Amino acid sequence: MFTEDKIKEYQNKFPELDNILALKPMLWLNPNLTKMNEIHSMDLNKEDMIQAEEFWQKSAAFFRKEFSEVRETNGIIESPLRKINNLKESLDKQFDVKINGNLYLKCDNELPIAGSIKARGGFYEVLYYAVSLAKKAGLINEKTEDYGVLSTSTCKELFKNYHIGVGSTGNLGLSIGIMSAKLGFQVSVYMSRDAKQWKKDLLREKGATVLEFDGDFSQAVAIGRQQMLEKPNGYFVDDESSKHLFLGYSTAAFRLKKQLEEKNIIVNQEHPLFVYLPCGVGGAPGGITFGLKQVFGDHVHCFYTEPVKSPSHLLGLLTGKKDCISVQDFGIDNITDADGLAVGRPSKFASHFSEKMVSGIYTLEDRTLYELLTLLADTEEMHVEPSATGGLVGAYQVEKSKYMEKMNVKMATHIAWSTGGGLVPKEEMKGFYERGRMYLGSGK
Ligand SMILES: *Cc1c(COP(=O)(O)O)cnc(C)c1O
Repeated sequence: MFTEDKIKEYQNKFPELDNILALKPMLWLNPNLTKMNEIHSMDLNKEDMIQAEEFWQKSAAFFRKEFSEVRETNGIIESPLRKINNLKESLDKQFDVKINGNLYLKCDNELPIAGSIKARGGFYEVLYYAVSLAKKAGLINEKTEDYGVLSTSTCKELFKNYHIGVGSTGNLGLSIGIMSAKLGFQVSVYMSRDAKQWKKDLLREKGATVLEFDGDFSQAVAIGRQQMLEKPNGYFVDDESSKHLFLGYSTAAFRLKKQLEEKNIIVNQEHPLFVYLPCGVGGAPGGITFGLKQVFGDHVHCFYTEPVKSPSHLLGLLTGKKDCISVQDFGIDNITDADGLAVGRPSKFASHFSEKMVSGIYTLEDRTLYELLTLLADTEEMHVEPSATGGLVGAYQVEKSKYMEKMNVKMATHIAWSTGGGLVPKEEMKGFYERGRMYLGSGK
């Protein structure tokens, strides 16, 4: 932790810190938001995304063979986009603000197999690694039309000799663990103290080794990274710096574009798109924001949301120190029920993109996350986990700010990204729901 003097110094420089340190929910608008045509020299570009999408298409054959859940979608891992008018009406009343434009939910809680946004990044990276090993072994070459071969015993015998590791608060571990085990890899998941018991149980059931740590996400990642890199055939999925995870997330933008077109939703200067994404280490919201910016340019405005106890991206971008600063440096404990967002230090890789592309970041109390979970269940019969609900109030946070006026926006399409909850056991979900109901203070 910083000394009192150092914290004071920061507070003098960044007055927003007063609210952050007092754990008050707030919205920060990014002064470094940059027009897309003024952003040069990025580590990734649209061509990388196009290749990543081609990779997904080639992988569909593998998914069709291995997972009955995706036969209907022909092996493509994607989630629906749903209008949530009932919730919007309820929130309009609660906030006494009428949002100009429709509110949609991007239901990544319904992503098959992993039940969370981590299906995008996590599956992509494991498959990418598997394909690269198969290429080296001569089982896949440039002419191979699809990656169905990954489900053959020849490939699985090969993968047995390799060991994949990952540090996680839960959901990334689930996606990496499930996919690695399916491919025949040895897999170890280094779980932080936030990880829920059922997630550990499920992983063990799938054949993963689960190592439990008392520390937070960054500590679990550090230990996992070190142990995996010591193994001769070890590979670590590094959520603090992975390009592959990031690219896996980014392709969501192509899919969303198609879904918007199918619904005849126009995105242009007069009808911009506003997207609200829950943020942990920043890979998922960063990758999706990067992707959306490639596809929609300045007509998409992306906001992240973090728990008041884990504002790691907010601190990193506000101070400009990115991954060189943590919430613990400021005496914030990083303890939140939003386990998917319980991250004290942002990803270096993601921060580099977010710095210029994210419009702003707002924080919420855990209590609000539960209330939203219950409201969403009551109004739309959709069930998500606490980490997934923060995006629902994004439109209201932004509407209250000067952002709309500054950007001259009169009408917009708002998309809250629901990031997880698909695998949550019924009993757990009931507990979440009741907690929210209690906070809402009604006897219903
Ligand atoms: C991982 C996760 C996020 C955030 O993703 P990061 O890459 O950590 O920023 C949001 N919601 C849920 C449910 C998650 O599991």
